[in-house]
Amino acid sequence: MTESKHDILQRVFGYSAFRGEQEAVIESVVAGHDALVIMPTGGGKSLCYQIPALLRDGVALVVSPLIALMHDQVAALEELGVDAGFLNSSQSAEEQQDVMQRLRGGSLQLLYIAPERLASGHTRAMLRDIPLSLIAIDEAHCVSQWGHDFRQEYLSLHELAELFPGVPRLALTATATQKTRDEVVARLALEKPGIFVSPFDRPNIRYLVQPKTDAKRQLLKFLQAHRGEAGIVYCLSRKKTESTAAWLSEQGFDALPYHAGLTGDARTRHQKRFLNDDAVIIVATIAFGMGIDKPDVRFVVHLDLPKSMESYYQETGRAGRDGEPADAWMVYGLQDVVRLRQMLDESEAAEDFKRHEQQKLDALLGWCEVTGCRRRPLLAYFGDTLTEDCGNCDGCLTPVSTWDGSEAAQKLLSTVYRTNQRFGAAHLIDVLLGKTTDKVRQHGHADLSVFGIGKDLAPQRWRSVIRQLIVRGLLRADAERFGALVLTADSRAALRGELPMEFREDPKKPIQISGIKGKVTEIPEQDRALWDALRACRQALANEHGVPPYVIFHDKTLREMLHARPASAADLLSISGVGQTKLDRYGEKFLDVLRAEPLSHAS
Ligand code: ADP
Ligand code: ZN
Repeated sequence: MTESKHDILQRVFGYSAFRGEQEAVIESVVAGHDALVIMPTGGGKSLCYQIPALLRDGVALVVSPLIALMHDQVAALEELGVDAGFLNSSQSAEEQQDVMQRLRGGSLQLLYIAPERLASGHTRAMLRDIPLSLIAIDEAHCVSQWGHDFRQEYLSLHELAELFPGVPRLALTATATQKTRDEVVARLALEKPGIFVSPFDRPNIRYLVQPKTDAKRQLLKFLQAHRGEAGIVYCLSRKKTESTAAWLSEQGFDALPYHAGLTGDARTRHQKRFLNDDAVIIVATIAFGMGIDKPDVRFVVHLDLPKSMESYYQETGRAGRDGEPADAWMVYGLQDVVRLRQMLDESEAAEDFKRHEQQKLDALLGWCEVTGCRRRPLLAYFGDTLTEDCGNCDGCLTPVSTWDGSEAAQKLLSTVYRTNQRFGAAHLIDVLLGKTTDKVRQHGHADLSVFGIGKDLAPQRWRSVIRQLIVRGLLRADAERFGALVLTADSRAALRGELPMEFREDPKKPIQISGIKGKVTEIPEQDRALWDALRACRQALANEHGVPPYVIFHDKTLREMLHARPASAADLLSISGVGQTKLDRYGEKFLDVLRAEPLSHAS
């Protein structure tokens, strides 16, 4: 009797139900149709082709641009008892021979292949005689010439339609814009594809954005709630990744830097540590992340602002791919806003490109200043609607109030005007507060009518006012005047008090992460010993097999073991993530750990 897709889901992958559109996609591909699958990162795209690959005759070709990702996927499939392999430039001749042999022999079920390899005449000739079950094109947005991940080699993929007629092709991506969708379908020559679009939301990610006061102290506080977990900390500069990683190490964290200036060897080593160990923090520039498929990244931190909402969503999307709770935490301040604006001003790029980038940055800055639920405007930016507040962001968890800042804005803008638009935030605030500094004396600013008119507000509050005025385009940092704050065309109306000026009230205390309800990653004290024992068992098996721990079992699976305390093989099989192969390979080991509990550990 042939197996159904549900049987395979259970037996091979150990999951009891499909997620979202998975089932519909699988049905369509099994029936031989082309498909376009749009799912957010962590949505479960891989199963959409892996299960049809096991259900249909022949080998499935999976086109993937990222070598690291191929390794991961193949290692994970092998652990599931599936015959999978890859062909790419990182392999020795023998390794390639071995894969070819399995391919010709008909045992191979999935073959991961780089696009340039698939473009070669030699590979095509070899594949012509081999029955194919399907062709999956991962990261399909790489075919879009307007996107930032464009890859020349992807353009030749449309030839697959003629080379392998009748073989269903499915394109998968997390990029959701309509333009990209149309481009993917056209450029890959998909034939009447089923279009499967999943909601963009990542409900398990908690979005937290905070004004920057003392970044290091804030980071430390945030990390207290994530001891023993893996995460990524993004910084803008290489230097800052180095210094932050060093500082975190001093604080007792296992932190490593990652940026394009390190040697290839160091990069590989740090990436390996991150993948293979449970609790490594990578402090990185945006050079890090493409092709990182680690499912148990528990937090993504931005110590500097990303350059757009798109970048932010992509970078934070690397957290919590396993569906378990994860944090996306960002701090931003006046300095960041000024600096990013200045960098754009100074860039040599074409004007319309700069304008475009400017708009993208504005959208992000505006979002930082949002006062209600953060998820709603975030999703709205990508064209998704959320009908209710999410309850899982800083806006929902610690609502911020607003205050009427019309008068403050008037005072600030007048000060900019009276000091001839030549000064930065620090001096303007000194003038407002009536401080007789050297600079104030030197320029005779104590004689101005605005001198000391802002004593009612604290300096921190004035910085917040300036930040929000810049974000609203009512104040601009002028690159030609070394970042002096200058008025804009819209400032006049604000000066006259004609614009409504509801400002965000920066929370006085940092968000209490650990105190937030619903944080289920926390293991109750009495279970801690068993939890550590389960993780140690997993780490030992991972080392033995030369794979990352999550390839053995995800956190979620271990957590279920902790709760359900399975006592037999049959019990274990009912746990999500435990399929037949893994049961056979590791079941006894984990049952031993579970049986030894609690006495040996609790005493
Ligand atoms: P994507 O490629 O879309 O980013 P993956 O295919 O890597 O996502 O899947 C994300 C995670 O979700 C993986 O760890 C995968 O094992 C898990 N997953 C996928 N489908 C299911 C399911 N139906 N039930 C439980 N877990 C699933
Ligand atoms: Zn919310």
